[in-house]
Amino acid sequence: MNYQLLAERLLPGEYPSLASFEEKYPPRALPKGAEVTRLAPSPTGFIHLGNLFAAIANERIAHRSGGILYLRIEDTDLKRKVDGAVEAVINALKYFDIRFDEGAEIGGDETYAPWYQRGRAEIYRAYAKRLIEEGRAYPCFCTEEELELLREEQTKKKEITGYYGKYAKCRDLSEEEIYRNLDAGKPFVIRLRSMGNPENKIKFHDEIKGEITVTENDQDVVILKSDGIPTYHFAHAIDDHLMRTTLVIRGEEWLASLPIHIELFEALGFERPRYGHNCSLMKQDGETRRKLSKRKDPELSLEFYRKDGYFPRAVKVYMLTLLNSNFEEWYLKNPDADLNEFPFKASKMSKSGTLFDLDKLSDISKNELSKLSAEQMAAFLRGWAEEFGTEAQRGFFADEEKMLRVLSLCMGIGGKKRRKDFTTASQAMEFIRYFFERPAAYEELRTESAVCARVLKDFLARYRYGDDAQAWFASVKEIAAANGFAAEMKDYKANPQGYRGSVADVAEILRIATTGKANTPDLWTIQQILGEAEVRERAELALRDLCGGEDK
Ligand code: GLU
Repeated sequence: MNYQLLAERLLPGEYPSLASFEEKYPPRALPKGAEVTRLAPSPTGFIHLGNLFAAIANERIAHRSGGILYLRIEDTDLKRKVDGAVEAVINALKYFDIRFDEGAEIGGDETYAPWYQRGRAEIYRAYAKRLIEEGRAYPCFCTEEELELLREEQTKKKEITGYYGKYAKCRDLSEEEIYRNLDAGKPFVIRLRSMGNPENKIKFHDEIKGEITVTENDQDVVILKSDGIPTYHFAHAIDDHLMRTTLVIRGEEWLASLPIHIELFEALGFERPRYGHNCSLMKQDGETRRKLSKRKDPELSLEFYRKDGYFPRAVKVYMLTLLNSNFEEWYLKNPDADLNEFPFKASKMSKSGTLFDLDKLSDISKNELSKLSAEQMAAFLRGWAEEFGTEAQRGFFADEEKMLRVLSLCMGIGGKKRRKDFTTASQAMEFIRYFFERPAAYEELRTESAVCARVLKDFLARYRYGDDAQAWFASVKEIAAANGFAAEMKDYKANPQGYRGSVADVAEILRIATTGKANTPDLWTIQQILGEAEVRERAELALRDLCGGEDK
């Protein structure tokens, strides 16, 4: 068979020489040991925790070694393309402080551009043409229906599905048959002519999993589709080579394709980057552990963390905890350090499924947020509210000084110990709502409403906004005593039958009346922040809505 002629017929015209690509995309001038890593998402609009997991690993490895992280968009499958997906990827990762040095919509050194695979069609075709010339690729005229029938047959026989060995019908078409098909205008794809034998096992060093055994590929995978657009397998091999990628950390779902990639690199005559396949994130679901699923687990999507307002550093700390087994210990010793100082290593990544636990993330979040100043917290909440909050929530920031007082109180700033009440921005905004809006509902009271009403009336009569905390509490004790409650805890404990309750119950009535909630930070301070008129209004409101109005 004259492969030269065939190549010219299948991909006619002059293509740049492969040597010219080597020249145009030269090895990168980076110091020894510097790693070039990448993130290569498809623009489907769904960016998930697994992507973030790989992104953090790639970013850390690249930047700790003085190398480069770039963003390549694998948009060869137009059916899956979603508008705005690239911006969504970049924004989602920026939130977690993943900085790309170059790439799609990032810019940077243009030497290795374009970073959209759609813009590199000529390159892929040039390499495909070379493989045809060498007899390592061939046209396949099988129709979708034929392939479907083949799949059914293989499934029925319990054989591996795909286009390989005796099933690769077009692999051995005669020259005559090929030209007859071409003359008849039959559409075709280009397939790799695999030289592999699945009986052969290859030893492979995975940067995360260590030594693994891989079965040789024997699938004649499609490299160019009938419209001349490459498949992901083919395009990514060429790009990783020409963009001079040295290391790829990616999800272990790609392990199954590794034999294909190994053969493609070999057929193309490229040196392979090193690969690390990171383990999947698992979720405890009752008794079993399963992979996080797009359908069942909203927390798989990165959008979830932004919408709920998880503090980015908290998510990153948790991801690093899962990614590197020695991170937790390092972080305990260096709680305030720049996370980038942690000596991240691919070899310390977990080899098998990692359990992802939202409760653990919440604990970390509480801890991280408790380290912020009121100003930092306000900036974080405002940023969240501007993007995801309601109009009313954005209004909470109208009086900045008030917001800072609220946050200082709720975070225990200046107190003996920081409070850890905040988990996420959405939860924090809900938590502080009563400072800005009157209670729409009240938590349950322990005291009967007629007594509550008397307590509230008494409070309205005695409340002096100018009282300091001590004087305020003294008057709460007076209210207690005047209404049959023990003013002192110890008196109540000594004789619980002698009283309706204690001063604590009175404080609870006032707390629920003021805030709607039974648990809040210091009530005197809350009332100071609200202001006298508002405190009185709320007591009146509670008298009506909480205690049903009149003395009974
Ligand atoms: N385009 C692939 C994806 O969507 C990238 C696979 C790889 O990293 O090699 O995840």
